[in-house]
Amino acid sequence: MRIAVLSETDPIETRVAATPETIKKYKALGADVTVQAGAGAKAGVPDAEYEAAGATIAAGAAEAARDADVVLKVRRPGAGELGGLKRGAIVVAIMDPYGNEAAIRALAEAGVAAFAMELMPRITRAQVMDVLSSQANLAGYRAVLDAAAEYGRAFPMMMTAAGTVPAARVFIMGVGVAGLQAIATARRLGAIVTATDVRPAVKEQVESLGAKFLAVEDEEFRQAETAGGYAKEMSKEYQAKQAELVSSHIAKQDVVITTALIPGRPAPRLVSAAMVQSMRPGSVIVDLAVERGGNVELAKAGETVTTENGVKIVGHLNMPGRLAASSSALYARNLYAFVETLVDKAAKDLAVKWDDELVRATCLTRDGAVVNPAFQPKV
Ligand code: NAD
Repeated sequence: MRIAVLSETDPIETRVAATPETIKKYKALGADVTVQAGAGAKAGVPDAEYEAAGATIAAGAAEAARDADVVLKVRRPGAGELGGLKRGAIVVAIMDPYGNEAAIRALAEAGVAAFAMELMPRITRAQVMDVLSSQANLAGYRAVLDAAAEYGRAFPMMMTAAGTVPAARVFIMGVGVAGLQAIATARRLGAIVTATDVRPAVKEQVESLGAKFLAVEDEEFRQAETAGGYAKEMSKEYQAKQAELVSSHIAKQDVVITTALIPGRPAPRLVSAAMVQSMRPGSVIVDLAVERGGNVELAKAGETVTTENGVKIVGHLNMPGRLAASSSALYARNLYAFVETLVDKAAKDLAVKWDDELVRATCLTRDGAVVNPAFQPKV
């Protein structure tokens, strides 16, 4: 059983798919592990640490991936990498399949079995493999730190000899994993925190973190959570009521952090240009949904925009990658926990149970075809 850990080709990607800790675990499973030289550099892991954990270092991607039965990455391999993969190899990564059907077909044509970690069912057994949670948690934390760094005032109330500095007012929109961590982080920094979501289950969680919940709590709100625990796309009527409620609130906030997502859909637009214009100069907005179309009208992916009225809108790409060492450590453990289930420990070899619930949910391509029903070509 040969496992390869490749470097990321997207310049924005700082994370790495394995750490010395998980290399040791793969070795204990009976695998030979090859790491592409420099793969961990941006996450603070030098090649020597991988070597010390038992990995072999290979100069390039093709050399690392040659004969590999399992290829570990953070992002989906690009066209340039596919030629170097063995037909039949298992490739595990965050595949970003929605809207990227051509790239998924290319994985099928390369003959690899591609597994999308973000499609992992959110069941108890798979919690340890949940990359969305591990990465969103760090993104929520980092979003607050980025906001605090951009904000020209203090977060906590400070009573000093020179007078009182008021506490910052922070509003979190979307209270999933990222939003909850953003609330907790802003509270730790001493801010006055409010939060909104369309799922009723969130209210108690928000209050238990010491923040105030604000939402349009009508009949649609009571039905907004899907069986999977996600939000539905809300009706135009609900969106209008929500906008009315939050617009007067946003005008009084110093910091707004938006994290709202709907699986497989563009991010809902929650903050209009008029709302941004209602905020005081020096206020900061961080849009964590910017890669999925953005929750904030004036946000630009990969940029920090300062509006005419002096509001900064932060649109960092790859927020978890801004904490590359922590996010890689958690991602690498998520990956190991999944790969371990694909191995027969007695035989020390791969033995994929193709009808296992986790395998079926995450497997996108196999034997030359797109096998996941959600991404098969429509006929
Ligand atoms: P997400 O990233 O899909 O969305 C972020 C948040 O945005 C969600 O809370 C969602 O309700 C909210 N949102 C969507 N549309 C909105 C709108 N129009 N206005 C305001 N908010 C809006 O969510 P997530 O972080 O993946 O979490 C989704 C759920 O999954 C949560 O209930 C979470 O607790 C649950 N979860 C379960 C497990 C598990 O293993 N059981 C693991 C992680 C998360």
